[in-house]
Amino acid sequence: RKPSVQDFKRQHMDPDSPPNSRPTYCNQMMKRRGMTKGSCKRVNTFLHESWATVKAICSQRQMTCKTSSRNNCHKSSSTLHITDCRLKGSSKYPNCDYTTTNSQKHIIIACEGNPLVPVHFDASV
Ligand code: 5GP
Repeated sequence: RKPSVQDFKRQHMDPDSPPNSRPTYCNQMMKRRGMTKGSCKRVNTFLHESWATVKAICSQRQMTCKTSSRNNCHKSSSTLHITDCRLKGSSKYPNCDYTTTNSQKHIIIACEGNPLVPVHFDASV
């Protein structure tokens, strides 16, 4: 299926939560946002920034994506408040158990369309 802006928002946008997530944040949010159905998604990043801020990255520095050879990625010129969710090695489906790590990093996202909108989270750096 083609990556969509709706999927990007569901998987990555959380502008209304405070930047410093509680330790249980990822366990709750990964489930709530549908990333623990069928299997536990291994790594996922949530962005605590407005949609305007994230969408604007599509007009910032273009680069080759880190996780594919495509050239439609863009790196944020500023750091963003993010929460990194990472599946614990001891986690056993269907009990998807994550570590929650808050940070401020630059992000790299893929954008598509006209006007360009975010469709894929590539990496944080
Ligand atoms: P690892 O640290 O396990 O070697 O790789 C994890 C990779 O996943 C990193 O490059 C990290 O930037 C990336 N990553 C972080 N969050 C997400 C996400 O939400 N989706 C995808 N596809 N990759 C992510």
